[in-house]
Amino acid sequence: MDRRGKVAGRNHRRRQVPMSRYAEFYRRSIETPEAFWTEESRLIDWHTPPQQILDAGKPPFANWFVGGRTNLCHNAVDRHLATRGDQPALIFVSTETGTEKTFSFKELHVEVQRMAASFIALGVGRGDRVLIYMPMVPEAAFAMLACARIGAIHCVVFGGFASVSLASRIDDATPKLIVSADAGSRGGKVLPYKPLLDEAIRISRHKPASVLLTDRGLAPMDLVEGRDHLAAPLLEAHRDAQVPCTWLDAADISYTIYTSGTTGKPKGVQRDTGGYAVALAASMKHIFDGRAGETYFSTSDIGWVVGHSYIVYGPLIAGMATLMYEGLPTQGLDGQPDGGIWWRLVEKYKVTVMFSAPTAVRVLRKQDPALLKKYDLSSLRALFLAGEPLDEPTGRWIAEGLGVPVIDNYWQTESGWPILTVANGVEATPSKFGSPGIPMYGFNVKILHESTGEELTGAHEKGVVVIEGPTPPGFMQTIWRDDERFVNTYWKTVPGKLVYSTFDWGIRDEDGYFYILGRTDDVINVAGHRLGTREIEECVSGHAGVAEVAVVGVADALKGQVAMAFVVPKDGAALADAAAAQKLEGDIMKRVADQLGALARPSRVRFVGALPKTRSGKLLRRAIQAVCEQRDPGDLTTMDDPAALQQVRQVLAS
Ligand code: AMP
Repeated sequence: MDRRGKVAGRNHRRRQVPMSRYAEFYRRSIETPEAFWTEESRLIDWHTPPQQILDAGKPPFANWFVGGRTNLCHNAVDRHLATRGDQPALIFVSTETGTEKTFSFKELHVEVQRMAASFIALGVGRGDRVLIYMPMVPEAAFAMLACARIGAIHCVVFGGFASVSLASRIDDATPKLIVSADAGSRGGKVLPYKPLLDEAIRISRHKPASVLLTDRGLAPMDLVEGRDHLAAPLLEAHRDAQVPCTWLDAADISYTIYTSGTTGKPKGVQRDTGGYAVALAASMKHIFDGRAGETYFSTSDIGWVVGHSYIVYGPLIAGMATLMYEGLPTQGLDGQPDGGIWWRLVEKYKVTVMFSAPTAVRVLRKQDPALLKKYDLSSLRALFLAGEPLDEPTGRWIAEGLGVPVIDNYWQTESGWPILTVANGVEATPSKFGSPGIPMYGFNVKILHESTGEELTGAHEKGVVVIEGPTPPGFMQTIWRDDERFVNTYWKTVPGKLVYSTFDWGIRDEDGYFYILGRTDDVINVAGHRLGTREIEECVSGHAGVAEVAVVGVADALKGQVAMAFVVPKDGAALADAAAAQKLEGDIMKRVADQLGALARPSRVRFVGALPKTRSGKLLRRAIQAVCEQRDPGDLTTMDDPAALQQVRQVLAS
């Protein structure tokens, strides 16, 4: 069968109902998790093997591989030195600066030790937090691995966040050290990081002792005496440093990563060491089918969980080279437009596994389709897409264009690796367009009735997607420094049942394939990035001209969703006068971009005299969203003032 024919069969039509090998694999993972994960734990190196595979004595906390000691950096780097030391480990391509550079495992080992020694020189030790606020440059990966090596906890903050977002994360993580750079770059435009970082440190309560800065020569930097250090001389001073891996307990924290929820305060998702290493090694084998010596290309960013799991740790643990990419998907190494750059890289580096997001594919879809045929993509076995719903036209277009399976996978920052997808490494399983797939081993996924909590087992019954504990290795341990919030936020949403809520609506079809139907909470998904509407609302309501605000996510053909703000202005000018409205809209947009980052900036700010609320004063965000998307707003019997929703309709029509 030709490659194209195979794809069409896999993705569109074949209905292999009995998936016996995988069904058995899955059953073992749920019924006998200890035996199942004992086997998987052999995929990594342990300094001391675990004495107990799972301690679930204090639900919902799941403590994996108790007594085991290991190190993520050892598993990602050192253990490959003997067998593949000269093979590529990190391939860095920046179409922003025209840089292309490959580090072998040996070279990566050297770079990570230099970084680790520099951290130690700055007083960083086991358990200390290191906040990483970096563009996509190799130093960011070195810094993450250096933390793992010495047992420091990294907290990577996405470079697109601005000073207020960054400050709240600095206050929560209380880092001893912040690692950053002069600037990032996007579409040829230099984005200085240092002024944003300085402002964040100025407004944060916690002050880091040191800041380590990579100078890319993109933007000038003012250094703060005694606090700021340039990376180059420090790394040079430690050029031959040998820093052994610190053997950590399996439960020791490897990192925290912030994610948005229903409150304005981001949650520090906390992950362990041993469970995470095993989960990633297992997923590389069973889900991604990535093999040592091959190249993995994830187009995500190290600021997101996909970047942690599948740019840095997962591929390296599997002995693969990871391709780290800075730039747009539509720009070549010479800075000129090139909609085929990713495929050029697939050909050049013989990428076998690629991971991206539906939004990126929607961007590429606007390019000349011939670009997909221009390169030899025969190395590629599959393209994985995650982060937001994959619409069928996008999925079909790319599957047909590439001629390889396109595999949707559903997960969250909290899970660390896919919850729903297909595990072709266990058994070839068809994907269905519109569905991310079936529950992955270790995840006991159920659909529960929204209000009664009763399990819905019938096909096409809509409910909340939940996971029954114990959660598998790699899943978040807790919320950083807040066990209570972890339990109350995620595990207490269903009366009388201790289950983890994903806060996503879902249904399951006759064949057990899940379909995700959007969030049950106020979280929105812009271009695969998760944002809390409350965080944006808090920022907007800080503007002197704003009396009240509601932010909702509205469907967008390219980005999946965009934020839209409905504002009740303090004085009536913005309601009566178009010029005043335009000025206030511009000011509010700028405020959000400056404080939170461009990603969070509402696509439009609309002015209304009142916001639709329930009689108890709760904002009816879902009704506003429905009106924006020209859907039926549903049951409005609890609405206080129907005229308010009418106003929303009117401003949208104007
Ligand atoms: P994040 O924690 O930023 O990865 O966002 C997780 C959320 O993104 C999930 O709760 C879903 O709402 C959404 N999501 C992620 N992957 C998918 C997918 N494959 N299909 C549908 N929604 C997804």
